[in-house]
Amino acid sequence: MPQSLARRMDGLRSSAIRDLLTLTARPDVVSLAGGLPDPEFIPRERIRKEAELALADPASVQYGETTGLRKLRDVLAAREGAKIGRPLDAADVVVTHGSQQALSLLAQVLLDPGDVVIVEEPAYTGALQVFRAAEADVRSVPLDADGMNTAALQGLLDSGLRPAVVHTVSNFHNPRGVVLTAGRREHLAALADRYGFWVIEDDPYGELFFDGPPPAPVAALSDRVIRLSSASKILAPALRVGWLHGDRRVCEAVELLKQGADLCGSSLTHQIAAGLLSDEPWLDLHLEMLRARYGSRARALADGVASTFGDRAGVSSAVGGMFCWTEFADSGLDTAALLQTAVEHGVAFVPGSAFGVAAEHRSALRLCFATCSEDVLTGAAARLGDAYAGHTQS
Ligand code: PMP
Repeated sequence: MPQSLARRMDGLRSSAIRDLLTLTARPDVVSLAGGLPDPEFIPRERIRKEAELALADPASVQYGETTGLRKLRDVLAAREGAKIGRPLDAADVVVTHGSQQALSLLAQVLLDPGDVVIVEEPAYTGALQVFRAAEADVRSVPLDADGMNTAALQGLLDSGLRPAVVHTVSNFHNPRGVVLTAGRREHLAALADRYGFWVIEDDPYGELFFDGPPPAPVAALSDRVIRLSSASKILAPALRVGWLHGDRRVCEAVELLKQGADLCGSSLTHQIAAGLLSDEPWLDLHLEMLRARYGSRARALADGVASTFGDRAGVSSAVGGMFCWTEFADSGLDTAALLQTAVEHGVAFVPGSAFGVAAEHRSALRLCFATCSEDVLTGAAARLGDAYAGHTQS
């Protein structure tokens, strides 16, 4: 008998972005492809000090509670409670191995095979992978400059579609960079209450705002929202500290599944994250630094793309997060083919098609401004211009 894999593996593909990261690791290529924080901005010295402190405590090298270190859940409950405007308890929070694990566990908790999940179009590829692995029927509603088009969502609901879950990256969307407006947050929350679906509010970028903070989370507006966030973009991805909060029953079900998934997270990195997140004066300064530095990079990249392409491309005005979405006026352009030429010219990006569900986004691409300095970004925009000229002439 030939060995076979489970049926759920049939529809799964490797993440185009993870594959690209290996392709573009060449030192002569400026990669705007990954969504990586600049290592220079990762507070390694503070992490080292917190690690030393933590190691003095034998509990930091031991198994811990499945829901995460109590001290960390206390800090997170306080921070998240302040965001949603009502007090949260440590028992309302589950710490996960990055917010990606929260997504993965939630898919198992909330979805049966064939259940409908609605994502934004274009979508976060990590969410697509998770929902496909859960054998969900993945549909999409378009995004525009105001975030998820909730009128389009309402249209689907009016036509009889009954999703189990709606996934939204409410702040500084990956890949589109946009923010869901306050009005649409209210509309989404009202639809969730009326139709009884769960909203997964996936928010790893909300602290990285350049002009002003985003509106209150969707989780402030409905009990049907499970909110996810992460230390990856503000402290370090390698801590693998993410978290979720929301309905107690859902949290308990996540805990049950997490027992089987990994027993518990890393007591050591939980201690480190708790130390950093509870030092408010330090954290405030650190976040201010990130907002200023990433904001300046976002402007350098957007200006570079705008001056290189003029009206041949539209670039999203980056108001936070890590990404600029660029859409070329030439709708016949295939950015996946352009990528080959771009790598030859020493610059890499993620083609829009990587984020497509029902649409292809073939003439769009995602650029990450977080990892490179302003000068390098300006140079990368010029390289992209050369690649475009070479590609469209050939
Ligand atoms: N959600 C979104 C929208 C993301 O962009 C990412 C990281 N790329 C994640 C979740 C997962 O991040 P982590 O597991 O590092 O918290």
